[in-house]
Amino acid sequence: MTRTADALVIGGGPAGLMAAEQLLAAGARVALMDSQRSVGRKFLLAGIGGLNLTHSLGRPQFDTAYREQQDWVAGWLDALDNQALMQWADALGAETFVGTSGRVFPREKKAAPLLRAWLTRLRAAGLQIHTRHRLTHRTEQGWMFDTPEGIAAWDAPAVVLAMGGGSWPQLGSDGQWQSLFHADELEPLQATNCGMECEWSPVLQSKAGEPIKPVILKWTDQTGRTVERQGECVITPYGLEGSVLYPAVPDLRDGIWRTGKATVHLDLMPHWTTKKVAEVLASRGKHSLTETARKALKLSGGRLHLFNEFYRQSPLEPDALAHTIRNTPITFTGLRPMQEAISTAGGVRREALTDGLMRKQEPGIFCAGEMLDWEAPTGGFLLNACMASGVIAGRAAADYWLTLARQ
Ligand SMILES: Cc1cc2nc3c(=O)[nH]c(=O)nc-3n(C[C@H](O)[C@H](O)[C@H](O)COP(=O)(O)OP(=O)(O)OC[C@H]3O[C@@H](n4cnc5c(N)ncnc54)[C@H](O)[C@@H]3O)c2cc1C
Repeated sequence: MTRTADALVIGGGPAGLMAAEQLLAAGARVALMDSQRSVGRKFLLAGIGGLNLTHSLGRPQFDTAYREQQDWVAGWLDALDNQALMQWADALGAETFVGTSGRVFPREKKAAPLLRAWLTRLRAAGLQIHTRHRLTHRTEQGWMFDTPEGIAAWDAPAVVLAMGGGSWPQLGSDGQWQSLFHADELEPLQATNCGMECEWSPVLQSKAGEPIKPVILKWTDQTGRTVERQGECVITPYGLEGSVLYPAVPDLRDGIWRTGKATVHLDLMPHWTTKKVAEVLASRGKHSLTETARKALKLSGGRLHLFNEFYRQSPLEPDALAHTIRNTPITFTGLRPMQEAISTAGGVRREALTDGLMRKQEPGIFCAGEMLDWEAPTGGFLLNACMASGVIAGRAAADYWLTLARQ
């Protein structure tokens, strides 16, 4: 027997919950299905890092984080920008603050209290949540879910799909939903906000876990422009991982696909002038380069290990060496697998959807969140866009249902 509701939301992450909230506000009977034993598991994982909900940048600068898709995402942000998202969180008792880097967090720096308050409000508004319901396929009977009690069929006039990207599949977002779409509606899912691989010596491999901070990363973007970002990263057995890398991944990824490698440069002395570094090197007397780096240049942790790896026995004159230390080349040869990434690029293409995020090939089916084809660096841009797209898809689905209900 097929069970019915006014609207189905499939996927209980932030995008799906936000879509459900819009449908409930329009008076719809909403059933939300999720494959996991509880909803919002990746949202809770984000809470381990303090739950960076959004970023305080003003618009239109905020929108540029979405690169080629910024015009598309801007339409969603018109419905839920950073200010509106902060007010939304405040109303749920999770008062927010702007951190030193401009990132916005709940004061408690936890996701669980916010998620709990949100679910309480959604349930009070009538949301039926069906966990351990994994969408497997569709038949003429409706949307088929694998559940502990066997296969369950559900159908509704409006259906919002919000099943996430392809990272951290153990939390539910395994990308299997791609089989529901035609190939021309999809861009391949790929890792973004992920670690980068390079060939370290055994010595550097043994330094895994050592932070490289502060550091400036320099790379060439797709237009040939040199981009610089200050931040930090960490040495891993396979290469580097960390927030300073993430904005560069889309540019480097294309280079790696095309040529098998992509080179960036690290400035290991971001707060020093090249002249000052050269002077210190020139006056080192009988001290070794390693000793000079540690004591006079005050390098430590991962920066000192990189110095030792590349420059311990450098024959370069002080001026040339100082310049090189500020432009240490690292050649990446690969990206870490999508399963480990913080988020994914690719997904349902803009051209396959209406402005209300409804599938053009099949009216009544809406999409939201990370399963859409956009990407952004970390910094709160991911959750803000996921939730804003949930508002758009949920409102459009509510309009669709209401129009059908009135006929
Ligand atoms: C370690 C980590 C830290 C992060 N920290 C931040 C941060 O601080 N700030 C930020 O902006 N972003 C952060 N992100 C990214 C952010 O969490 C995601 O972009 C966001 O959760 C995506 O939301 P979504 O609703 O689109 O998908 P998801 O949150 O992935 O939810 C999708 C849901 O769909 C369900 N689902 C999938 N397939 C099926 C199926 N077949 N049947 C039924 N249900 C299904 C899943 O179980 C899941 O609950 C982080 C990500 C990671 C991995």
